[in-house]
Amino acid sequence: MPTTTLKSDNGWPASKDPAEIGIKSYAVKGTKIKLRCAEKVAPLLTEFAAEFHATIEPIDEGTLDDWGYCFRMVRGREDRLSNHSSGTAIDLNASKHQLGAENTFTPEKTLAVLALAAKYGLKSGITYKLRKDPMHFEVCLTPKQAKERITALGLEQ
Ligand SMILES: [Zn+2]
Repeated sequence: MPTTTLKSDNGWPASKDPAEIGIKSYAVKGTKIKLRCAEKVAPLLTEFAAEFHATIEPIDEGTLDDWGYCFRMVRGREDRLSNHSSGTAIDLNASKHQLGAENTFTPEKTLAVLALAAKYGLKSGITYKLRKDPMHFEVCLTPKQAKERITALGLEQ
């Protein structure tokens, strides 16, 4: 078994081999969407997506443009591994909230999205300074913090 040395931008183990870092496919409650994420953060990402679907906007209407794990570099930054490479990031409603687009959510929805992301220990691409990525949400917790947050939210499997 190879030892993982690669890390994505947020410090989580990344690999081209999804099995090596515990990537599985998880259904998002209340939708027909499945997201591929790392086991250790799956409750945070999938529960966030379910609540986003229920309270912000539906994620399974029209094009299915919602993704999780994907081994790749940060777009335009070929020296950094995207957090999708560790299965700790998801994109929701990508066609509506495209990379680089600003104000794709109303001001009220923006506040609600940020609050929801914070609840699950996620960082929203809306907050990126140089280039907004409003479809994007990523774990900004250490493995220990992620475990604690899952417990605090009562999301243990
Ligand atoms: Zn993304």
